[in-house]
Amino acid sequence: MRTPIIAANWKMNTNVAEAIELVKAMKKKLNSISGVEKVLCPPFISLTTVGELIKGTSIELGAQNMYFERSGAFTGEISPLMLKGLCRYVILGHSERRALFGDTDQIINKKLRAAIESGLIPILCVGESLKQNEAGETIEVVTKQVNAAFEGIDSPEGTVIAYEPIWAIGTGKAASGDQANAISGMIRSAVAKLYGDPVAGELRIQYGGSVNSANMAEFISQPDIDGALVGGASLKSVEFTGIIEQTAKIKKAG
Ligand code: PEP
Repeated sequence: MRTPIIAANWKMNTNVAEAIELVKAMKKKLNSISGVEKVLCPPFISLTTVGELIKGTSIELGAQNMYFERSGAFTGEISPLMLKGLCRYVILGHSERRALFGDTDQIINKKLRAAIESGLIPILCVGESLKQNEAGETIEVVTKQVNAAFEGIDSPEGTVIAYEPIWAIGTGKAASGDQANAISGMIRSAVAKLYGDPVAGELRIQYGGSVNSANMAEFISQPDIDGALVGGASLKSVEFTGIIEQTAKIKKAG
């Protein structure tokens, strides 16, 4: 039994005051829902404050990125050691970081290794572009991203993988449940090849890309999808709590 996991990626939205308001708006409801892991990933500047607000609740905290070095002359960066103790999860390899900030497969591999070594749980994002999708390259691209991310890493140690087709992120055009499930199954097979069936069987795979409270049921009903990484809809308390409610309801029924 894999516990479903829904993570909120607030991206570069909310100042500290707005983050406080958002947490206050959904904290009670989120805390009351059991059977689903709930993770809030605010901007770095709000991690401490959000962490204080959710202390003692069932809500977990995550960062949106980190650097792979432990400390040193890396102006503007945040290290795994700084995150350790502050939050449990860290999103790595988001397509926006790959496209805009030079996060290559090699850098993501270093970050993944550093996060695991520090006891953080990575949420590793993979996914193909529209062009790659239309060229029929999805399986090849995603398999390569998964293999490259885990290169030389002995054990994924609870790493969550988010399958996020780039063409579905922030576009309002989500993949279909069947499409997302097929690629998630392929990701599970790739992980089975690297680490064996038992590890792959425990791997949690999220779908990400225009998820909202109206379409969440379609994804969480799929056998290889264990949750969602949510961008835009995670900034609206009613939407985000709705996504968690849908997940809990369908998983309890199933
Ligand atoms: C994301 O950025 O990880 C994401 C899935 O965004 P959205 O839900 O807005 O498509």
